[in-house]
Amino acid sequence: MIPYDAITDFQVLTSEDHELFRKVVRQFVERYLEPRVKEIEETNSIPRDLFKLAAENGFMGLGIPEEYGGQGSDYLNVVIYTEEVSRVCPAFSTATLARGLFTTPVLFFGTEQQKRNYIPPLARGQKFAAHATTEPGAGSDVAGVKTRAVRKDGGWVINGQKYFITGADKADYFVVLARTSDPPSRHERWRGLTMFIVERDNPGLRVGERIQVTGLKGSMPSEVILNDCWVSDDAVLGELGEGFKVAMTTYDYGRVGIAAQAVGVLQGVFEKSLNYAAQRVAFERPILAFQAIQFYLAEMLRDLEAARLLTYWAAHLLNKGLDERSIIAASLAKLFATEAAERASLRAIEIHGGMGVAIDGMVERFLRDTQIMKIYEGTSEIQRLVVIRHLVRKVLGFEV
Ligand SMILES: Cc1cc2nc3c(=O)[nH]c(=O)nc-3n(C[C@H](O)[C@H](O)[C@H](O)COP(=O)(O)OP(=O)(O)OC[C@H]3O[C@@H](n4cnc5c(N)ncnc54)[C@H](O)[C@@H]3O)c2cc1C
Repeated sequence: MIPYDAITDFQVLTSEDHELFRKVVRQFVERYLEPRVKEIEETNSIPRDLFKLAAENGFMGLGIPEEYGGQGSDYLNVVIYTEEVSRVCPAFSTATLARGLFTTPVLFFGTEQQKRNYIPPLARGQKFAAHATTEPGAGSDVAGVKTRAVRKDGGWVINGQKYFITGADKADYFVVLARTSDPPSRHERWRGLTMFIVERDNPGLRVGERIQVTGLKGSMPSEVILNDCWVSDDAVLGELGEGFKVAMTTYDYGRVGIAAQAVGVLQGVFEKSLNYAAQRVAFERPILAFQAIQFYLAEMLRDLEAARLLTYWAAHLLNKGLDERSIIAASLAKLFATEAAERASLRAIEIHGGMGVAIDGMVERFLRDTQIMKIYEGTSEIQRLVVIRHLVRKVLGFEV
């Protein structure tokens, strides 16, 4: 069963508490979020009061240990929240959980001081945060980051441009990846990068225009410009020159959240399609009576449950710790679930006929949202690379 070691690696442990929590999120979604989805789509923004309500329900503290003001770091709870929200509005899960790309590296690599300073206000939903790695010239190729930080006045001066930064428009804190030294060799391009924490009120940091993208309306990313942005040594997150590792660990944890978004989309479009097929009449019969439609629905359900099991399994392995097993599982889950969500969204459009492509039908938006899920936190091609690299390392003991 390579690359796994034992049957026990395939456990998915869900509990009554998880189900109770799911019901709480469902209630929140039905009561507060669902009635606002159209408004979010049309205005391309998420009303502030929804963030406040999410914080009051403790959702901003998911995945964060209680000692730093969070609800505990059970990744299955993060997955359940993300899935339930994304069933109705994937953009809201992006907007509320983007801060995970800040809290994860701080929790794993930060000093105690950094954790105490930054995590509790984020867990309480009083502050927001963003993760700034991508640049116009470096996305998948994180080691190609051109932003530079050089020594000055006992600290660092950062200069560069970051692109596609989710939540930058309202973020109070950023993690920023910058090159602090040249790589020692062509084969070690990833060395010499350092992650920094930069606060919004730093005069050297400016949030530029929002970038209009095809989906996830309400959670548009922005450009972030660093112009002679001075930070002290206290802003260094993790080891100097080891920022690549900080970024990769962040994505190893984050991917399971994107897989969960895709599971939510699969659930949402499946339910919509089933209901529509049962009530839409053509040729004097509900279209659900046609075998073609029945087969579409059966295939959607197959993909939904397979994606859900992969995602819960990856979350369970992450709960046990970050290793080759959980990293491979999280990448498999993201790869499968996002591609399955794309297929299911297309099918949903077909089942809905003209209403499938009508903007007011509120179905086609899921297809637009899935295009982003397939890209951020590593494209499908990058997930395949992650899987094969970790597989070869674990099973054969060398690097490819
Ligand atoms: C809506 C949105 C929000 C985002 N939010 C954030 C954020 O908050 N913070 C942040 O830092 N970034 C963010 N990103 C950036 C995102 O992570 C990158 O867009 C993504 O990693 C891909 O990088 P790229 O766009 O530069 O594409 P490229 O890396 O240029 O890739 C282009 C194509 O080449 C393929 N490719 C690249 N390298 C390889 C390879 N080695 N093998 C095979 N194929 C390859 C890719 O799969 C892709 O198909 C966001 C992006 C979007 C669209």
